[in-house]
Amino acid sequence: MQINLELEPLDNGLENPSWPFLLAGPCSAETEEQMLDTARQLKATQRVSAFRAGIWKPRTRPGSFEGIGEPGLQWLQTVKAETGLRTAVEVASAAHVELALKYDVDVLWVGARSSANPFTVQEIADALKGTDKIVLVKNPVSPDLPLWVGALERINRAGIKKLGAIHRGFSSHEDSVFRNVPMWHLAIELKKMCPALPIICDPSHISGKRELVSFVAQKALDINMNGLMIEVHNNPACALSDAEQQLTPDSFAHVISDLMLRFMEPMTVASKNILEEYRKQLDELDDDLIQMLSKRMKISQKIGQYKQENNVMVLQMNRWEEILNHRVKMGEAMGLNGKFIKQQMEIIHDESIRIQTNIMHTEPIDE
Ligand code: PEP
Ligand code: MN
Repeated sequence: MQINLELEPLDNGLENPSWPFLLAGPCSAETEEQMLDTARQLKATQRVSAFRAGIWKPRTRPGSFEGIGEPGLQWLQTVKAETGLRTAVEVASAAHVELALKYDVDVLWVGARSSANPFTVQEIADALKGTDKIVLVKNPVSPDLPLWVGALERINRAGIKKLGAIHRGFSSHEDSVFRNVPMWHLAIELKKMCPALPIICDPSHISGKRELVSFVAQKALDINMNGLMIEVHNNPACALSDAEQQLTPDSFAHVISDLMLRFMEPMTVASKNILEEYRKQLDELDDDLIQMLSKRMKISQKIGQYKQENNVMVLQMNRWEEILNHRVKMGEAMGLNGKFIKQQMEIIHDESIRIQTNIMHTEPIDE
């Protein structure tokens, strides 16, 4: 499926327009001193597109620090005046949008809890009408791609063209090293639906712990995400929210300088030719795979006809388990991932069953 969004490119405001769009700054604005100290160090990296700070914090349980509110917007103005960095805040209501616009915040983002609620997104979209600011929409907490798309569409229909998505991972009940499981396929699917939509990865909220941030950030760039949002605090140990995942400005600078920027295509003619050659080999192998699948399905069809004529059941569990075990073992012996082979065989088997049951449901042909 494709989605139609009217988009204008996001300007990263940096010396090199092809660098990732980097948002960095504390989870929460706490004091003016914390903001300025952090922002000055971030500015020194010359790679930051916008300074982020949470002004209103959506906390899971009451009683935790819920954000400093309006004074934080004043500090953000000071940050912009002193460092020249653009500013970014999360907005969760029309009132937040009005205040953020009043204090001339440059980037407004819709948080993961808000993007899960179409009423809230619509309220934010209505309040944004007429502004030319950059607006970013985080994925909803649950792995629901249409809900994410719907939130982007609502904001876009309010006339926001400088629009982007933020991939911050998803809640899951499964055990995971991540605070929010990345489920990269959902971000990739969104990119396929709308290739022009910039997607920014938030490794901080995916990781939940600072040690994982650089790994997740690199992975995001490897799959062609367009930017990163990383939480940075001048004293993470004392942070009032998300203390475990925030980086010091120093370690942020290291993470950024260690990141490998990948190119869409190789730079030299020689390496382009090598890649072309590999791609040609892959194309040929894919053609072979499809021919083999076609042959295999034709045999399934013959088996189906035979079973119908002889009144034999389509699904034979023993036979299927035998096929599966044998193929998985063979795949593993050939250096393939057993889980991958199992998934492929299950898809092929489902299709065989579908073909055979279709035959069962047609009348035998009298010859
Ligand atoms: C945040 O960016 O600090 C935040 C609250 O993020 P999320 O909406 O992704 O939980
Ligand atoms: Mn946070």
